[in-house]
Amino acid sequence: MKFAIIIYGPPGSGKGTQAEKIAEKFNLIHFDTGKMIEKTVHDPKNANDPIVQREKKLFDSGILCTPSWVLSLVVENIKKICDKDTGLVFSGSPRTMYEAEGDKKENIPGVIETLEDCYGKENLVFLRLNVSRETAIYRNTHRRVCESCRFILQYSPENEKLDKCPQCGGKLVRRSLDTSEVMSVRLEEYKHRTKPIFDFVEARGYELVDINGEDEPEAVSAEIFGKLSGFLSF
Ligand SMILES: [Zn+2]
Repeated sequence: MKFAIIIYGPPGSGKGTQAEKIAEKFNLIHFDTGKMIEKTVHDPKNANDPIVQREKKLFDSGILCTPSWVLSLVVENIKKICDKDTGLVFSGSPRTMYEAEGDKKENIPGVIETLEDCYGKENLVFLRLNVSRETAIYRNTHRRVCESCRFILQYSPENEKLDKCPQCGGKLVRRSLDTSEVMSVRLEEYKHRTKPIFDFVEARGYELVDINGEDEPEAVSAEIFGKLSGFLSF
């Protein structure tokens, strides 16, 4: 399937979970910028690349990588995937206006423009997963992480019944970072950082397709698949 789907939603809206389901159903690649950076900086093929090694130092010490480098890498990888005739699904990215719009000074195209060139405007769909503030906070303060392999088990009534890590059988614990105070900050940040991207996308003629994210994951997927069929032919 050659189309690209971008899912936005506050932390706790289930966008990662839904991106996985969409990727599986339509055989798309779930594009994860964090994982892509990690793979690139640790790829032995890049051991002699001075720029990648500079970024590796930042990455390994927990400092954000250089935005223009990340953007170039994202654009390059989108093109590679598109050339293979494969579609894409994004969850929560492009995260900033810089990534969405590109860098005119450095002459790096934005993610949206790149996707339009690769897939065509008519094959680009933006979804917005909506949940209340209460739901977002509840889910994020009830998710758990595996002590052994660091797998994050998102909150859902189904997952709540598990007492062992589904990946390795390790012990599941709450993270000390997942407090309602931290969540309030993240929700505010989402609001301020993402709103300009919504305006940018709408100004380019797209509709943001609203999805009710309150329901159980299966019901949310059903709504997404139903709505996508109105935009894409599959
Ligand atoms: Zn585990």
